[in-house]
Amino acid sequence: MAHKDDPVTVVVAWFADNKRELPWRDPEVTAWGILVSEFMLQQTQVDRVAPKWLTWMQRWPTADALSRAPLGDVLRAWQGLGYPRRAMRLHATAQRIVSEFAGTVPSTQAELLSLPGVGHYTAAAIAAFAFHQPTVVLDTNIRRVIARAWSAQAMPSAHLTKSEESFAAQLVPQRDGAQWSAAVMELGALICTARNPLCSQCPLQNSCAWLVAGQPDNAPVRRKQPTFAGSDRQARGVLLRTVSEAPLASESAIEAVWADALQREKAMTSLINDGLVIRVNQGYCLPDS
Ligand code: SF4
Repeated sequence: MAHKDDPVTVVVAWFADNKRELPWRDPEVTAWGILVSEFMLQQTQVDRVAPKWLTWMQRWPTADALSRAPLGDVLRAWQGLGYPRRAMRLHATAQRIVSEFAGTVPSTQAELLSLPGVGHYTAAAIAAFAFHQPTVVLDTNIRRVIARAWSAQAMPSAHLTKSEESFAAQLVPQRDGAQWSAAVMELGALICTARNPLCSQCPLQNSCAWLVAGQPDNAPVRRKQPTFAGSDRQARGVLLRTVSEAPLASESAIEAVWADALQREKAMTSLINDGLVIRVNQGYCLPDS
């Protein structure tokens, strides 16, 4: 049995008293609801996901309901979360769950990995949070806490390594493994933040290797993220929003919202290639609209 001062036990106990009341943490939420939350949280922050998740689940409470929705409606409802390929993959996942799993979210990581848009992280998270399995869930928050508290590193490396994964696996308790993942993720989100960690409020302050070492500036060098303003990603977002706001968006409407012709053409071509927009004679529309 783990000692009460064991860091894993300490973090789980901290979580019991400090966790945020997020809508998908309600014990009544179905595996489908948790799957939807994981898709939304892949690249969008909790504050923006929470209200969207609530309206989404009212509209499409099951995989079956979403599987029957026109893709255009799904893309429109996704607006505001960014990275709309996820909406298309969630829609495809709903259809796969209906056709191959009788409408029920599968519970094994191998089955989850067979769904569109479900990678290793998402499969592990759904298995943990929907089915209470002791999987190794490693998002950026968890990786940062483990890097600091156990490895005296200011930040984890840019890419997950095998040794990091096997070290993290050793920390997961067989009993309450899912609780541990939720707890350490929350600690990273609220206390052990990327900038200015709140060490004086942290339950690990007496054992944290990085704090004990005097918080050395030893983070691995990372490439700078490209800025969003003026990027191809911003162009895609603006064009997709314009197409979604009208039954048919004309060429001139598209030209009016993004002046750079080369970038506009590139963004529109990538939206069409991704299946997010359809070109018709007089302009552009969403699929199935
Ligand atoms: S003591 Fe500070 S650096 Fe260490 S885990 Fe807690 S918040 Fe992070």
